[in-house]
Amino acid sequence: MESRIMNRRDLDFLLYELLDVDALSSRVRHEDHGRDTIAAMLDTAEAMAETDFAPNNRKADENEPRFENGRVTQIPETGESLRRFSEAGFMAALGDERWGGIQMPFTVNMAINAVFSAANISTMAYAFLTQSAANMLETFGSGEQKERFLPRMLSGEFFGTMCLTEPQAGSSLSDIRTTAAPQADGSYRITGNKIYISGGEQAITSNIVHLVLARIKDAPPGVKGISLFLVPKVLVNDDGSLGERNDVSLAGLIHKMGYRGTTSTMLNFGEREGAVGWLIGEPHKGLSYMFQMMNEARVIVGNGAAALACTGYLHSLAYARERVQGRPAAAKDPTAPPVPIIKHPDVRRMLVAQKAYAEGALALTLFAARLVDEWRTGETEEARSGAHQLLELLTPVAKSWPSQWGLEANSLAIQVHGGYGYTREYPVEQIYRDNRLNPIHEGTHGIQALDLLGRKVRMDDGAAFERLCALMVETADAARAHPGLVEFSDALADTVERARLTTAALRANMTETVLGNASVYLEMLGHVVVAWLWLKQAVVACDALAADPHEADRAFYAGKLAACRYFFRWELPKTGPQLDRLAAVDDTWFAMAEDHF
Ligand SMILES: Cc1cc2nc3c(=O)[nH]c(=O)nc-3n(C[C@H](O)[C@H](O)[C@H](O)COP(=O)(O)OP(=O)(O)OC[C@H]3O[C@@H](n4cnc5c(N)ncnc54)[C@H](O)[C@@H]3O)c2cc1C
Repeated sequence: MESRIMNRRDLDFLLYELLDVDALSSRVRHEDHGRDTIAAMLDTAEAMAETDFAPNNRKADENEPRFENGRVTQIPETGESLRRFSEAGFMAALGDERWGGIQMPFTVNMAINAVFSAANISTMAYAFLTQSAANMLETFGSGEQKERFLPRMLSGEFFGTMCLTEPQAGSSLSDIRTTAAPQADGSYRITGNKIYISGGEQAITSNIVHLVLARIKDAPPGVKGISLFLVPKVLVNDDGSLGERNDVSLAGLIHKMGYRGTTSTMLNFGEREGAVGWLIGEPHKGLSYMFQMMNEARVIVGNGAAALACTGYLHSLAYARERVQGRPAAAKDPTAPPVPIIKHPDVRRMLVAQKAYAEGALALTLFAARLVDEWRTGETEEARSGAHQLLELLTPVAKSWPSQWGLEANSLAIQVHGGYGYTREYPVEQIYRDNRLNPIHEGTHGIQALDLLGRKVRMDDGAAFERLCALMVETADAARAHPGLVEFSDALADTVERARLTTAALRANMTETVLGNASVYLEMLGHVVVAWLWLKQAVVACDALAADPHEADRAFYAGKLAACRYFFRWELPKTGPQLDRLAAVDDTWFAMAEDHF
């Protein structure tokens, strides 16, 4: 039976045929990760996702963690799966060898995470948070902090969290009130309340490393007064043994629509004498450290959304092949046998839309991950800085586009199932609920949109945006060599030019009304970028088909061309009216008085 979790052929296509991950194996940091080792890791990930993560997915959803007698209880399978995940080396994937890591390319780790996320995203969330926290510590932590905590995080003995949000400070982190009081021994005492902290308490590991944003007393107001602290749940003695419980307590669990296997916690820091914490890096730079981290975390959120879109698509595809219902519209004989629903054109429409969103989103997030690798290990300074510039620009798109359209794909997956899709008997209902989080956390859709239009397309006088446009036009030009792609090359080149002109006009007059349409801008640019990535995939598919591949590959590449055609004929044209309204600086909702609502 074909996997309903993730299409391995597509992952291999993206890694090797589109993104040239082979080139990363020649870099010193990744020299142990050639095709064979990467294939072995992906094989193991697929097997564990199928036999270990996926079977617990529904159970974790139906038996969400509880807060009883001051402690969290949760199904043991979540912890057992994560233990095996860590034993197989996945938790340590990104870390430096010095700390027990295996220095895997970020792109490959992203592909692996996609497999686990598609199988069970609420279990995978603990791993994602730990990997991200470890990464942050590795980049900004002191030698002593790393020695004490990093190896134990990379081995999965301790998990990590990111403690940003407070009841009054969600999107607006400048309003954080948690405070940090310096102590004579160099440590700080942290006091405040955090909310929505994923994995803030759990019944899996003996310790949790909280990375906490707080203000040192008398720090300047706003974002420039926020610092980052390492606050362990349990203090670690000099000999490595676990010491006293720190003054961090669980005030309660939050009950959610999806992602139920991940605990969402309200944490109180300093109910007694203040939680012991240590400053990471320099004072007042916490948010800038966090933002560096967020480039990765946001791409990972987009990747999770893409993974859920992929698995929803595969489930509905399998269902459409099995479910027999009705006859072709032209069939006159009521006694003729009914057909599988995949024969109905409207079901095919919903399947190809899902394929275009899901595989487009996966391509986008792996492309962004490839930029992370290039930024870190590119061979020249120019390659590294160029990748960083493009990554900065595309991060809000890589987070938001999959979150929006992956969810739309999941809605179509339910629709393909008809009434069964709306029941708990089929997995697509949970997949949709789980995916609904992704446009919210790690910066909402609206915040990503403001970041893109208000900051990123304006960076360096628009240089990053102009570079992106040049790359897209380059692909359009190259694609013209394939007669079947000329129609799409022209469409991409025209839309990029319109987007370029509109963006230049908006940039020159960035008013509040312009920013009021930022979400439309984000959606427009997302569609243009994904159209570009579809055209890139189509070029690879055309070249591969010309080399006369074997039958299964012929179907695979033909499927890529069909999805590209769908995207260019039915999706990219949606940007036309958006560009019209953006260029006209429409003020429909901006101009509405509050009592008009
Ligand atoms: C399941 C879950 C897990 C989470 N995990 C974590 C975690 O591990 N660590 C952590 O620190 N946080 C976490 N969060 C918090 C999450 O990052 C915040 O919920 C999110 O940033 C939004 O903040 P908020 O909920 O306060 O909404 P608000 O900021 O109140 O936003 C409400 C609405 O107003 C819009 N809005 C707000 N400000 C603006 C503006 N300036 N311009 C335009 N629109 C605006 C938003 O886009 C949104 O639509 C999690 C949240 C959830 C639901």
